[in-house]
Amino acid sequence: MYAEVLIEYPTKKIDKYFTYEVPLKMRNTLQAGMKVKVPFGSKTINGFVMKITDTFNSDYELKEIVEVVDPELKLNDELMRLGLYLEEKTLCPKISAYQTMLPSSLKIKDNDTNYNFYKTYLMLNKTKKEVLDYLVSYGKENKQTILLNTLLKEEKVLKKDYDSYTVKALKEKELIKEVKEQEYRINKSNLEGLVKHPLNVEQQKVFETVKNTNEFKTFLLEGITGSGKTEVYLNLIEDTLNKGKTAIMLVPEISLTVALVNRFYEWFGSRVAILHSALSNGEKYDEYLKIIRGEVSLVVGTRSAIFAPLENIGIIIIDEEHSDTFKQDNMPRYNAKDIAMVRCKYHKAPLVLGSATPTLESKARALKGVYSHLKLTKRAGFGTLPQVTIVDMLEEVKKKNFIFSDELITKLKMRISAHEQAMILLNRRGYSTTITCSNCGYTYKCPNCDITLTYHKSTNNLRCHYCGYSISKDSVCPNCHEDALNYLGLGTEKVMEELQKIIPEAKIIRMDQDTTSKKGSHEKIIESFKNHEYDILLGTQMISKGFDFPYVTLVGIINADSSLNIPDFRSNERTFSLLYQASGRAGRSNLAGEVILQTYNPDNYVLNCVKENNFNKFFNYEMNIRKILKYPPYYYLVSLKIIAKDYDKSLENATKIANYLRKSISPSSIVLGPTTASLFKFNNTYRFQIVIKYRYDEKLMSVLKYLDNIYLNDKDVNLEIDIDPLHI
Ligand code: ADP
Ligand code: ZN
Repeated sequence: MYAEVLIEYPTKKIDKYFTYEVPLKMRNTLQAGMKVKVPFGSKTINGFVMKITDTFNSDYELKEIVEVVDPELKLNDELMRLGLYLEEKTLCPKISAYQTMLPSSLKIKDNDTNYNFYKTYLMLNKTKKEVLDYLVSYGKENKQTILLNTLLKEEKVLKKDYDSYTVKALKEKELIKEVKEQEYRINKSNLEGLVKHPLNVEQQKVFETVKNTNEFKTFLLEGITGSGKTEVYLNLIEDTLNKGKTAIMLVPEISLTVALVNRFYEWFGSRVAILHSALSNGEKYDEYLKIIRGEVSLVVGTRSAIFAPLENIGIIIIDEEHSDTFKQDNMPRYNAKDIAMVRCKYHKAPLVLGSATPTLESKARALKGVYSHLKLTKRAGFGTLPQVTIVDMLEEVKKKNFIFSDELITKLKMRISAHEQAMILLNRRGYSTTITCSNCGYTYKCPNCDITLTYHKSTNNLRCHYCGYSISKDSVCPNCHEDALNYLGLGTEKVMEELQKIIPEAKIIRMDQDTTSKKGSHEKIIESFKNHEYDILLGTQMISKGFDFPYVTLVGIINADSSLNIPDFRSNERTFSLLYQASGRAGRSNLAGEVILQTYNPDNYVLNCVKENNFNKFFNYEMNIRKILKYPPYYYLVSLKIIAKDYDKSLENATKIANYLRKSISPSSIVLGPTTASLFKFNNTYRFQIVIKYRYDEKLMSVLKYLDNIYLNDKDVNLEIDIDPLHI
C-alpha cells in the first residue's frame, strides 16, 4: 500500500506528489486528507495524503510514512476537491491551498505544539459504600475526609483546588483516582437576554423565499442600514439547524464580530463555533475540533471560516458582502464569496449575500437575474433614515474653522445637552499618496483612467499607475491658482484635542489603530460608549460599520471626500459605502438622526448621492463610468506585479511579460502597462504592474499559468498574479 503525499515546504518548486510506503500499523487507518510526517532528505516534515494506491512502479527504494499528525484533523472529500479548485482559480501551489483550510496552529511552524488542553479531575475509586465505611473506621476529620465527603456529593472535582499532599495520600490508599478531560477554551451556553423580534412583513417575505430553497442559488439581500438583516439571518440559520443541517455565517471584521457573536450565542449557545484571527492558537484549535467532531452546527467567523469542515451545509450567509476583507491579498488570493459559491453548489444550498451597499458586481448580477434580488427597504425598529447635510469647508476655512464647521459644533453641543450621543468619523484614507489643493480641494486625475495620480517626490511628477500617464506637479493649483498644493493629513489625536478645546464639557473616547492594539480594547471602548459613559465616539473608518448604538443621533464626518482621492477605480464605490454606512449609525431607535458631511467638494456627485440616501442613483452613475472606462462589472481584471531588487531587471521583465501577453491572449482583451505599481518601492524591491481587462478570453488562464511557471524558479524576479483583484 502506498500514499501520494503533498509536501509542506513553503516553496512552489516542489509542489508535487511524492510516493511513500504505508507502514503495516497504518494500513487500516490511513486515509486521503490526513496530515502525516514523512522523511524528506535528511529531515522529517509534514505533508498531506492526497491519494492511497495499491501499486507503484519505480526502481528506487521507497521510504515509509513516520506517523499521522492528528487523525482527527482530516480534510474531507469536499475540502480536498476545494483545494484543487483554489489552485485552478488562484494559481496558488496546492500545498498553500490546503494549508489555508486548516487553522494556523496546525501549520508548519507550530507542528510540534500540542494544543489539546486538559483539566485533571479527582473521582472516587471505590464504591460510595466502601468510602463511607472507610470514613467511619477512620474516625477523625481532616483534609482527606473533607475531600472524600465532597466526592460523595459531587461526581468529580478539579484537582488543582486541593493540596497535593492530600491527593497523594488518598491516591496511595486507592480511594480516589485522577481523570484527565479535554476542555475547550471557549465555553458558551445560551446567553441570557435573548430577544426575538417577530419579523415584519418585508423580513418575513425574504425569510420565506430563502428558506424554501432546496438547491444552489445565490441571493443578494439588499437592505438599508437598520432594516433588520441580522434578524433575518438568525431566523434562516435557526430554520437550517432545525432541519438538521449546518450553517456558515461570514462577517467582515472582528470589530463587527464582537457584537454579533453575542447575538449568535444568545440564539444558539454551544451550537456555535467562532473562527477569526484574534483568537489564540489554542482557541482556534479547540473551535476547529468542535467543528470536526460535529459538536457544533454553526460557524461564525471572518474570511477563512469559509473553509470550516462542516458536513451537510444548509446555508451560507455573507454579511456586508461589499467588504474588501473577504478577499485575501496574499497567496492564495481567493475571495470567500467564490469559495462560498463552490461549497453551496456542492451542498445544493442557498447562499445569501447581504449588504446595504452591495458591490457593483453583485448588484449588476442581481439586476440581470444571475442572483435572486431580495430587498429590505424600511428600518425595522422605530428608526428612520437620517437627514444628511453637506457642509462646504471652503466657506468654513474663511472663518478659520479648519477642522470643525460651526454647524457641526452647534449640533454637537445640542445633542450632548440633550443627553444623546454623537459619533465623529475622520476619513483618513487617501492622504498619503496624492496632492490636493488645500484651498479649493482640487486633485490631479488621469484623463484616461479617472483615478487620482500618484505623486512621486523624486521626480516631482504625478503618475497614473494604471496606464502610465504622467505630468509634472505645478507650483500653484491649476484650478484656483493659489500656492496651496499639499499633502493633507489629520490625525485622530489632533482632532480629539481640538474638539476637547472647543467643547470642554464633552466626554470623548477615541477609537483608532493606536487605541485598539491591545486584545479586548476594542470591546471595552464599544461597551463603555454603549453604556453612555461617553458623549462622543471619535474614530477612523473602524467606527463606520455595523454598530447599533440607540442613543447616537448625530454623526459628523470630517474630510468626507478624502477617500475619493485614492488612486483606484473603486474609490467612488468605497467612499459611497463608507459614508452611507457611517450615516446609517445615526437614528437607529426612536430618536431621529442627523448626519453632517464636511467636504471641500460640496458638489461632488458621490456625496450628493449619500445626502439623498440614494444607492440606486449612485449605482447608475458609477456603472456608466465603469462601462465607458471598461472596468468591472463590464470587464474582468487580472493584475500582474513584477517584483525585483534590481530596477532594470524588474522593468525589463515587466516589459517582456506585457509584450508576451499582447501576442498571446485574445485580441479583444486589453493589456495596460507596465507601469509603476501604486506601491512602487517596497522593502527594497521595485514593483511594476500590468493590468489585463477582458470579457471572454479562452487563452488567458493557460497563458497566465505558463508565465507563473516560468517565474516559479526565478530567484531574482517574482511574479504575483492576482485574478479579480480588489485593488489595482
Ligand atoms: P441591519 O443589519 O440591517 O443594519 P439590524 O439587524 O442591526 O439591521 O437591525 C436594526 C435594529 O432593528 C436592531 O436594533 C434590531 O434589534 C431591530 N429589529 C430588527 N428586526 C426587527 C423587528 N422585526 N421588529 C423590531 N425591531 C427589529
Ligand atoms: Zn491612466
